[in-house]
Amino acid sequence: MDGAIAVSNGKITAVGNWDLLKQQSPGIEVIDCSDKVITPSLVDCHTHLLEFAPSSLHPVTPETHLLAGKAIMLQALSSGITALGEQICGHPLCEFSLEDYRNAVADLPLDVSFATTSISIGFEELAHFTSVTRSRPVTQAELVQPLIVSEIAKSSDYPGENIFINATPANFTAKEVPRAGEVVYSLDELKGIVTIFHRLGKRIGCHVAGEKGIQLALEAGFDVLHHAHGITSKQLHYAKELEVDFVATPMGGTHLRPNSPKEILAAFEKGIPISISTDAYLPPHPEAFWLPFVGNTLKGPDMLMLISQPSMLLLKTHGYDENEILAMITANPANILGKEACFGRIEPGLEANFLVAEGVPGLEISDIKQIMKVFFKGKKVIDRE
Ligand SMILES: [Zn+2]
Repeated sequence: MDGAIAVSNGKITAVGNWDLLKQQSPGIEVIDCSDKVITPSLVDCHTHLLEFAPSSLHPVTPETHLLAGKAIMLQALSSGITALGEQICGHPLCEFSLEDYRNAVADLPLDVSFATTSISIGFEELAHFTSVTRSRPVTQAELVQPLIVSEIAKSSDYPGENIFINATPANFTAKEVPRAGEVVYSLDELKGIVTIFHRLGKRIGCHVAGEKGIQLALEAGFDVLHHAHGITSKQLHYAKELEVDFVATPMGGTHLRPNSPKEILAAFEKGIPISISTDAYLPPHPEAFWLPFVGNTLKGPDMLMLISQPSMLLLKTHGYDENEILAMITANPANILGKEACFGRIEPGLEANFLVAEGVPGLEISDIKQIMKVFFKGKKVIDRE
C-alpha cells in the first residue's frame, strides 16, 4: 500500500513508501499507478516457442519460421512475461543453429535463456534428436556419446529439460506415440551424462515423469526435475534432501496426468522452491480437471497465470504468504535460469522488470488483459491503457 519504486538506467534504485521516496527524489518523473498493483514481471522457465511452436501455429517456411517465433515472443511479452527459458531440442524441420535462435531474439525486449537438449519421442520406433545435430535423427547410442553430450552441455545456458529420461508424447495423440513414457536410459548412462555436465560447470535438468524415471533422476544427481508428474511423497522428501529444484507443468507435457494443485501444495509444504511453467505450446492434458480448458487446441505462455491460479489459490487457503506464492512464477523460475541476481523480485539493484496490473497475477487476475503495463529494464514495452 502507498508503495513506490524508483528506477534509473533500467535498474530499480529504491523501493519503499511513496511519501518517503518523493522526498528523496525531488523533480523525478512520476508514473502514477495508484489504483493498480505493481509486481515483478513473470518468468516462464520452460517453453518451446522458437523451435516447435512456429510450424505448429503458422503455415511457415524456413524463410518465415523465425519471424513467427518473434510474433510468439511478442504474445508472451504482452502476457506479462519478460524472461523465458527456451528449449532447443533438435527438430526434423529445423536446420537452424543455436546461434540462429540466439540472434533472432537478441534485439527483443525480453530475456531469453536457452537450454540445449536431446529429445526422445515415443513413436512405434523411438525418434531421437539433439540440439547439436539439428534436423538429423540420431540413434540411442549417440544420445549417450560423450562428444555429443559435451557439445550439448557446453551450449546450454541453464538446467532446462536437457535430456528426456522418458520418451515424450510431444504434441501427438496417444495412438501415434505408443511408447511415450518408456524410460530411455540406464542409471549408469544417466550418471555419465550428469558427470559430463557437472565437469563443465553446468547444472543439468531433465524431462521426467513416473516413479521409476523420477527415482533414476534423483539417484543420478540431476539438479532440476521438469514435470515430475506422478512424484511420490517419499520422492519429494528425497528431492528436498538433495536440494533438487522442481519445475511443475500443470497443463501437461508428459505421458502422465500433470501436477495437480494438491501435488504442488505437497512440494511446497516440503519446502521445495517450486516453479510453475507452461511448457508451451501444448494441448492441455485431458485429465487436468482443475483447468478450465475444453478440447485440445494448443495453449501458449499467455496461459501462465491461468494454469498457476488453482495451485496459487490453494496455497493461499493454506496460509502461505502472497509473495512466496507469486515467487512460483517470478523469483523461483528466475533462479532456475540462474538470473536471480538480475530479475525476478522488486529490489534495489535488480533490473526494472515489472508489471502494472489490476491485481496480483495468478492470485487475483488470470486474464492477460488485466495486465495494463509491462516494463523491461525500465522501459515500458506493453501498454493497454
Ligand atoms: Zn518441454
